[in-house]
Amino acid sequence: MESLSNRKKVVSNKKMSFVESLYLPAIVGGMWITIKHMFKKHNTLKYPEQQRVFAPVYRGMHVLKRDEQGRENCTACGLCAVACPAEAITMVAAERQKGEENLYREEKYAESYEINMLRCIFCGLCEEACPKEAIFLTDRIVPTNFDRDEFVYGKDRLVEQLDNRIDITVRQNTGKRGEK
Ligand code: SF4
Ligand code: SF4
Repeated sequence: MESLSNRKKVVSNKKMSFVESLYLPAIVGGMWITIKHMFKKHNTLKYPEQQRVFAPVYRGMHVLKRDEQGRENCTACGLCAVACPAEAITMVAAERQKGEENLYREEKYAESYEINMLRCIFCGLCEEACPKEAIFLTDRIVPTNFDRDEFVYGKDRLVEQLDNRIDITVRQNTGKRGEK
């Protein structure tokens, strides 16, 4: 049958010649390829000392946004968790108490909110599903670690800090979301 990719090779079982049976031509050929690569431009970077410039629409580590008054936007509706194909998001909802209006924008908020970054495939569906503009993916990289537990990110690492707000407007505008 014709191969769809046209890359199909017919494997032959022909007998090796005397020179081929010495394996020397194959070894020299392999060494030649290795030496050639030593002088080629490397595509790898010495991360984290060197960092690649990402496209503006790069999807990296999430942020749970606050509104302009500093209140958490998330209302723990769970839509992001339902939309997540990797089942990476879990949360516990709680009711906002009197006096907490300056902390949480909605009457219900996420008492705990966790994303397992090892499960996450950074697809952005949580961001798409959120009706409160609470969760966004950013251009930040999830730091490496030797401990798997360290990849479960809670609110302490997801909610943006009041004194270190994260601007997601560039990424949102560059992606031209919603345009037909
Ligand atoms: S980016 Fe995708 S995989 Fe990661 S938490 Fe959001 S929906 Fe789940
Ligand atoms: S981040 Fe958005 S979708 Fe997810 S629970 Fe909070 S408000 Fe709902």
